[in-house]
Amino acid sequence: RASVGPKYLTGLNPEQREAVETLDGPVLVLAGAGTGKTRVLTTRIAHILSQGRARPAEILSVTFTNKAAREMKHRLGQMLGHAVEGMPWLGTFHSIGGRILRFHAELAQLKSNFTVLDVDDQVRLLKQLLQAENIDDKRWPARMLAGLIDGWKNRGLMPSQVPSGEAAMFANGKGGKLYASYQERLKILNAADFGDLLLENIRIFREHPDILRQYQQRFKFILVDEYQDTNVAQYLWLRLLSQAPATTKPTTPTVIPGRAEGLNPESGDETSARDSGSAPSAHPGMTEHAAVAVATPHVKNICCVGDDDQSIYGWRGAEVDNILRFEHDFPGAKVIRLERNYRSTGHILAAASHLIAHNEGRLGKTLRTEDQDGEKVTVTGSWDSEEEARGIGEEIEQIQRQGEKLNEIAILVRASYQMREFEDRFVTLGLPYRVIGGPRFYERAEIRDALAYLRVINSPADDLAFERIVNVPKRGLGDATIQMLHDHARKRRIPLFEAARAVVETDELKPKARGSLRDVVAQFDRWRAQREVTAHTDLAQIVLDESGYTEMWQKDRSADAAGRLENLKELVRSMEEFENLQGFLEHISLVMDREGGAEDDAVSLMTLHSAKGLEFDNVFLPGWEEGLFPSQRTLDEQGRAGLEEERRLGHVGLTRARRRAMIYFATNRRIHGTWSTTIPSRFLDELPAANVEITESKGGSAWGGTGGYGASRFDDMEAFGSTYSTPGWQRAQANREGNRNRGGGRNGGGGRGGFEEEAATFSSSSSSGP
Ligand code: ATP
Ligand code: MG
Repeated sequence: RASVGPKYLTGLNPEQREAVETLDGPVLVLAGAGTGKTRVLTTRIAHILSQGRARPAEILSVTFTNKAAREMKHRLGQMLGHAVEGMPWLGTFHSIGGRILRFHAELAQLKSNFTVLDVDDQVRLLKQLLQAENIDDKRWPARMLAGLIDGWKNRGLMPSQVPSGEAAMFANGKGGKLYASYQERLKILNAADFGDLLLENIRIFREHPDILRQYQQRFKFILVDEYQDTNVAQYLWLRLLSQAPATTKPTTPTVIPGRAEGLNPESGDETSARDSGSAPSAHPGMTEHAAVAVATPHVKNICCVGDDDQSIYGWRGAEVDNILRFEHDFPGAKVIRLERNYRSTGHILAAASHLIAHNEGRLGKTLRTEDQDGEKVTVTGSWDSEEEARGIGEEIEQIQRQGEKLNEIAILVRASYQMREFEDRFVTLGLPYRVIGGPRFYERAEIRDALAYLRVINSPADDLAFERIVNVPKRGLGDATIQMLHDHARKRRIPLFEAARAVVETDELKPKARGSLRDVVAQFDRWRAQREVTAHTDLAQIVLDESGYTEMWQKDRSADAAGRLENLKELVRSMEEFENLQGFLEHISLVMDREGGAEDDAVSLMTLHSAKGLEFDNVFLPGWEEGLFPSQRTLDEQGRAGLEEERRLGHVGLTRARRRAMIYFATNRRIHGTWSTTIPSRFLDELPAANVEITESKGGSAWGGTGGYGASRFDDMEAFGSTYSTPGWQRAQANREGNRNRGGGRNGGGGRGGFEEEAATFSSSSSSGP
């Protein structure tokens, strides 16, 4: 086919082009890593706009991270040759859901300036509820309840819909009731948690069909990236929005007791009736007025892209099933497969494909590259995690000396605690780096304190924020005072801040406490008044200074006080990007991924989970050890399914690399303070020998390099009676060193199954080492 048409279409292969140009009806692009799925989505938006099929505000495009949304916006500008004006509906499920909820906050018993709680706030709040109910927090930790509630919300379940069996899992059946009182508390605090952002949307859509219709009419095109990681709530939300608006009496609101029931009432059956009768070329989006559409809402133009082999959020409620049953849910869907990988070289792609082939539950797909084989994937052993970090640090410096950009280097870890070692190393080396996702700048204590001040200014009902800072810096407002405020607030059903205002007018408090509390109330009143006339950045600085918070850290003698003051400065600086305080706070609550500091060129450090969708020339994959990767917890909790999800995570990691993928494992690792002797990840064994090269660590003595470490490691393993079979890479290593017999003793015995059972024994009983 001649590639005539707009410039943005040139260079696409025929399948990609088909996915871009099939604008009408449901489309699923089911394809492997690096095949251009995200590019197809972006190009599709460009195509819709330049064909005049919709205005920017009529396109809903869901990305997995805020960063991905910004990236998409940027690319779109490049394709169209001009910045896109008013493309407001491009973002994560949370950010879009949050935005919709602000428009209709009153329907969820909230005010439009509601606060979005993070996990920490959530847990504090639940702790209070447990206390009030006299439930022992040690036996029934608030964190566990937070996890349960999150899980229910991810599945679209309101308190009344929690199956009794599951409610019974917490505090002898009180789970459901606690969930309900938690929701009530949130309303009183004018707050929502992340789960609410979508759940309240779904509730509003179902209870107010006119509002739903308004959005259905608005969004002419819906696009979803990383569809394999959508959870049930996200799926239900999409289903509701993706039906063409009904023009007659809306369907009665339906409860959503669970996934199976939740889907059906107004979807599957009716749409299949429509589709069986409609020609393939029907334009559902254009024929909304057609008689058939009046009675039967049908699916409109929705395009989802995803890869079942990259489903890595099962632990957070994602259902890979959503992608597997797309054709069933969106009948008449066109399914397009892309097979050419444009990202990675041959060896990397072969290694990644070989690894994932060990999974049973997959659709299976072909991936090919027309790129060269390139460099083999390297596997490097180190003595411990420090040596690993040193080795990777030196490797990075070498890459840098060759004139490559640090931006093209990423370190992808399995667990976020692995990051500290690298951070320390980079600070020592003076290597600029940024942490993406995970424990973020905004989660540092001083930043959270500063944000709490701003939150109380923004929303006086924000009790959690108020409680956090009412005695920071110390003002002589101890637990007894706080308790009294709580009692007052509960009795009169008012926020803590208002309780404080009332209490200082009485003589219930000792004069000193009363004096300082009165000062606090007066200060906040003053700052709120100032807010009207002062730029929000100036206001923030004023608040930090006048409250004594800055001074508190200036007087602090601990080693990190200076760093904290710098962070506070950075915080004020970062506010400049926002129009006002409200906008800034909203951003904070939604940020999933942190941008780097001032550095333009920096190494990226992140978890494998946050690396989804990204690509780098050089990718380091440290910590491929049993117990860490695959993670012991996942294996314990989810067994075989967990192992497969871990393997997909490995696949995601490898497929981030364009030119070089470098895997590391350490023989000793300190996990939560105790040293453990580790054994290499079973995933190393699953890599194809032909595409892998064993190398030595640059960070010091490589394991086995001098004989010593290697030998002791093997001795340790034999002591445990391992049935671990000698993997290809290990044989290669043995051959290279003329040490053929080292691995030999472990060849007899069981296969994978035997090993899996023993893995637990290893990690629990192998505390030894330096
Ligand atoms: P992932 O599954 O990891 O999210 P993906 O399928 O979304 O991957 P993209 O990120 O869209 O893949 O594309 C991978 C890389 O290949 C990008 O650098 C992209 O620009 C490039 N690419 C995609 N299609 C083409 C093409 N037709 N010609 C040249 N480069 C392409
Ligand atoms: Mg992508």
